[in-house]
Amino acid sequence: MVLSENNEGKTTRGTKQAEVSHGSSTMSVHAGDDRPFPYHSLTPPIVQSATYTFKDTADLRSFMEARMWGMETKRVEYGRYGNPTITAVEAKLAALDRGQEAMLLASGMAGITTTMLTLLKSGDHFIITDDCYRRTRQFCQTFLTRFGVLSSVVPAGDMIALEDAIQPGTKLIVSESPTNPYLRVIDLDRLVEIATRKRVKTLIDSTFATPVNQRPIDFGIDLVVHSATKYLGGHNDLLAGVVVGSASLIALIRQNLWILGAVSDTQSAYLLQRGLKTLALRVRKQNASAQEIAEYLEAHPKVRRVWYPGLASHPDHTVAHQQMQGYGGVVSFEIDGDLEVTSRFIDAVTIPIIAPSLGGVESLIEQPALMSYYELSTEERLTQGILDNLVRFSVGVEDPEDLIEDLAQALSRL
Ligand code: PLP
Repeated sequence: MVLSENNEGKTTRGTKQAEVSHGSSTMSVHAGDDRPFPYHSLTPPIVQSATYTFKDTADLRSFMEARMWGMETKRVEYGRYGNPTITAVEAKLAALDRGQEAMLLASGMAGITTTMLTLLKSGDHFIITDDCYRRTRQFCQTFLTRFGVLSSVVPAGDMIALEDAIQPGTKLIVSESPTNPYLRVIDLDRLVEIATRKRVKTLIDSTFATPVNQRPIDFGIDLVVHSATKYLGGHNDLLAGVVVGSASLIALIRQNLWILGAVSDTQSAYLLQRGLKTLALRVRKQNASAQEIAEYLEAHPKVRRVWYPGLASHPDHTVAHQQMQGYGGVVSFEIDGDLEVTSRFIDAVTIPIIAPSLGGVESLIEQPALMSYYELSTEERLTQGILDNLVRFSVGVEDPEDLIEDLAQALSRL
């Protein structure tokens, strides 16, 4: 346990500086905690207030002056501009991803949209890799286009295509890693080398990895976003997003969060800090179970192909092995059959629950063709790489032998 300075300048235990040298579990429990919390509460209190009071005009003036000159103030003014429960979880999130600052938002999409609206203006160009969450793709290719922001889509993992796509007006490269749903892993060293040479900023959606498995900022990536709805929260009971990066970039994005208004709520922030304490425990268990399940499925005759970066057969296994501490809890695989056969398999499993989302303690299973891509025809889905027989399995914390037995009985019915 480390000793550090709290906000009153006294030395205290177990806190803000549970820092870089500590392991992921110690960090998950202690990092960022600015003790003592009010009332010497062990947990950060839920401050359920939309606005904050001033004693008199002099008090108000001194706060406004400090803020105007960019000086740090220990108090807040209005809920859209900050909240002590949210600030507490932001400190933990920054420490976990080894960024200078983190900013909590209402959802992962709020993190992506607020960040991109900050970094890009009309006439700018950005690059996005192709395998990604459908709403991110829609925001990039339809919403931003309305504002004159131009984009190129390059295949995830093709670094030559990525470098070739850079133009004089390119301001940003955006990618998930691992990607959704094919778990493509981007070579972060190579990405940073290209982006630095071409003076382009980089943004990695690290939702599928979590800071336990990968810390893009350590590689020199400028900004990391997560849908905290997934592993960071971990219990399928909150929606939140986080953006992590340098103090200067986060300050810029925060100014726009205050305008755009997609702020998190206090209850979600509290649940998130609670969930984060078991992040490393959960993720390591999910890594191990997913690896076992992926190996089982790969050997099964009724499974055509398994997409999991922990398998030597995955196109990005080597890079994943080099840059990740674990391969994550999502396994995607193709059933040997069509849309209907695949649905029969999904209906036959008994432990995983049919639902969108991933990363929680409950195993969730879905057929992307009938979930995120439902209204598209098979041909339209294919242009986005989504096969009718694809299954995305988010492995929870159940016993892996139970999950494998369940998958076995469901596959045996096909
Ligand atoms: N990024 C990835 C990789 C996702 O899978 C998702 C949602 O599934 C999001 C972002 C959006 O997150 P949220 O649902 O919290 O807005």
